[in-house]
Amino acid sequence: MPKPSEISNLVIIGSGPAGYTAAIYAGRARLNPIVFEGLKMGLPGGQLMTTTGIENFPGFPTGIMGPELMRLMKAQAQNSGARLWMEDVISVDFKQRPFTVRSAERETLAHSIIIATGATAQRLHLPSEDQFWNKGISACAICDGGIPRFKDVELAVVGGGDTAAEESIFLTKYASKVHLLVRSDRLRASKVMQERVLNHPKIQVHWQTVPTDVYGNDWVQGLKLKNTVSSVEQDLTVGGLFYAIGHKPNTALFIDAIELDPTGYIVTKGKSTATNVEGVYACGDVQDHEYRQAISAAGTGCMAALEAERWLSGTGLLQEFLPVSTPEETIENDVIEFSLG
Ligand code: NDP
Repeated sequence: MPKPSEISNLVIIGSGPAGYTAAIYAGRARLNPIVFEGLKMGLPGGQLMTTTGIENFPGFPTGIMGPELMRLMKAQAQNSGARLWMEDVISVDFKQRPFTVRSAERETLAHSIIIATGATAQRLHLPSEDQFWNKGISACAICDGGIPRFKDVELAVVGGGDTAAEESIFLTKYASKVHLLVRSDRLRASKVMQERVLNHPKIQVHWQTVPTDVYGNDWVQGLKLKNTVSSVEQDLTVGGLFYAIGHKPNTALFIDAIELDPTGYIVTKGKSTATNVEGVYACGDVQDHEYRQAISAAGTGCMAALEAERWLSGTGLLQEFLPVSTPEETIENDVIEFSLG
């Protein structure tokens, strides 16, 4: 049997807005949480590390760069008392209590877990995609669509689901025209969204059409399109391309551990972040295929931490101020100085 001091109150897996917000709340509640920040993308911080300006996160009236927002959240998590480990989790065991979380470097025991591993936007992997990523190509119109480069120019959206429909309509606020590229002869979006798209004067749907590449200099200037039936190719002059071809939740680790829906998202109960395993909570995009915003992810991160704390208190497992020494791996070098009230 492990000694109580060898078991953490809470391990948070993931480090986007959801994970760091959970860490801030849990840290301030003296849970002494551990955050496995993950390194899959080379850096912790989740999807916002690959975005540019964020203009819809409250508190930043002139906007903030995605990586800067994450740097601030990370510093706040650390200043709140969370221990941040820049490691990928490689396996979990939720069948036995306390739960086990393993990285390549270590094995950790915890009474409760918050999963905040996010989702990954699907990409088309066009030949010039990397060159133009964030330079005209984006996977989130709601996040990026309002920047000046996309104003009063023609834009393209690829996809035929609710996201593509919603993002096309959203982009009509800024663009002179929106081209919706649909690979088949039908939209998968809900009826009401289909009607809005098909009746919108600024949206042109290109059926059975896919982009095969983008071109430009330092920014997207146009697309190479191909008809999926006739294979006829043509160019389309646009100043931006938005991917809306679905997201993949990062749940491979949890396939046999907790309940997932048929598309792989974690199932949470009702209005809570509770999963089907008591003491395991999920927040952010890993359990949300609808809103997928930094602010909604942060909101559910807060909920998960409060729910975990309540559960730990209710079960009598909560240990305040666990006497765990600061691990060497804790990131110290980029904490900004400010005092929490
Ligand atoms: P979906 O999986 O529903 O749709 C993805 C779309 O992308 C499909 O039309 C698909 O085409 C197309 N696609 C996939 N791969 C490619 C490719 N390689 N090239 C071209 N097109 C491609 O994803 P969404 O993100 O739209 O929606 C996910 C879920 O979230 C859905 O359940 C949706 O209803 C929900 N949602 C709800 C919202 C709301 O209620 N407000 C808003 C946004 C999403 P094909 O149809 O041919 O497979």
